[in-house]
Formats: sequence, structure tokens, C-alpha cells
Amino acid sequence: MIRIDIYQGNSHGLCHILPVSSQKKTDNQKILKGGTMDTIILTPESNDHFAGMVEEMSRSNLSRCWHCLCCSGGCPFAQDMDMLPNRVIRMVQLGMKHRVLSCSTIWLCVGCNTCSMECPNAVDMAAVMDALRRIAIQEKVKIAEPAVLSFHQKVIDSISRYGRTHKLEIMMRYKLSEKDFFSDMDLGLKMLSKRKLDLMPSKVKDRQQVQDLFTLAKELS
Ligand code: SF4
Ligand code: SF4
Repeated sequence: MIRIDIYQGNSHGLCHILPVSSQKKTDNQKILKGGTMDTIILTPESNDHFAGMVEEMSRSNLSRCWHCLCCSGGCPFAQDMDMLPNRVIRMVQLGMKHRVLSCSTIWLCVGCNTCSMECPNAVDMAAVMDALRRIAIQEKVKIAEPAVLSFHQKVIDSISRYGRTHKLEIMMRYKLSEKDFFSDMDLGLKMLSKRKLDLMPSKVKDRQQVQDLFTLAKELS
């Protein structure tokens, strides 16, 4: 088994490749503070085509990443991720397909684009995360955060029906599917009382055009 250490905290992304026997636990907070080695244990799994596939789908050149940590440092959800965004890139480069597709990080990413804007090498991390989510669904990998995927689906359903999002309906459908009826009830009532949630959906005039876009997207995928 091979261990790869990525030295974090400078702009050179020094890597050490060492033989080891056990997985070192990653501590995102320590790594983000700098000066700590992030360790990747190489598994026998290695998919030579994976990096190319992700590069093509995200239109990003991953070999330009020098692990400067700008993306991970700016990510508002980094503390909750099971691996930092730059680590995801490294593991894609190493062909660790299953590990990457089954991680929580790709589902906790909200696509805010902060990382993509901060990358000095124009790696579009948000697009990489999007590509990884698409591959995970296509390849029927066990989704690490099924509730997040379920929420995404409710949002897409709403857009396909109305051409816009109807937040109240999205939340109700989501809560129903998760059988979680009472959490966030206070927040929902507060939002309703402040008229932040519409009772009735607002619809675009030409919903057929929206349907056509969905049909086209299905044909292209
Ligand atoms: S993707 Fe960009 S910002 Fe992130 S570590 Fe690599 S070079 Fe730095
Ligand atoms: S796009 Fe995703 S990975 Fe990038 S900063 Fe936003 S949440 Fe983090």
C-alpha cells in the first residue's frame, strides 16, 4: 500500500509518496490552518480513464492544480466535508474513482463557485464537483448524502413544473419523502408569517419552453 502526503500551507503543494499500513485520519481544520500533511492512502483501485472523464465533463485541466489550498480555504462547507476539495482533485488525478464518487464532499458542495473564483490556475472546482455528482448518479454509486440528492430532485421537479421554484412545495415534498415532519417547523412558520414563502406557485408564461429544455437536457445526457 502507498501513502501520498500533500504538504498544505504553501503554494508548491509538495508531495511525498511513502509505503504505509494504515489510514491517517484527515483533520480538515488542522490542514486549513496550514503546515499539516494531508495523507492519501492509495488503494489497489486505479482507474486510468477517470481523470480524463472528469476533465472533459468539467472542462478543467486538473493537472494544473498545485494544491495551494485556496479552494479549500475559501469553501464555506469545508469543515463539514469528509475530504477537502483539493484532496478530491488529487484523488481524481490518482484514479481513485470509487473513493471519490462515494464521498460526502461532492454532495455537501452547494456550487457557490467561491473555489472556482479563487483558483490561481483556473481549475473550475464547482464544475468538477458537478461532474462527479453526475458520474455518481450515472454509475449508480451509493450516494453518501441521499437527502441532499432528494432535495436537488425536488428543486428540479419544481422548475420543470412551473419554470420557477415554489419553495413551500419543495420543502413539503422534501419533508414528506424524508418522513421528517416537525424539524424546521418553527422556521417555516416564521418565514410564512414574514411572507418569505408563497402559498401558491408562481409560473412562467411559456412552460412548454421549459419542458423542451428538460427534454433536450435528457437527450444530451
Ligand atoms: S484547485 Fe486551484 S485553488 Fe484548489 S488547490 Fe488546486 S490550484 Fe489551488
Ligand atoms: S462550489 Fe462547492 S467546493 Fe467550491 S467553495 Fe462552493 S461549496 Fe465549496
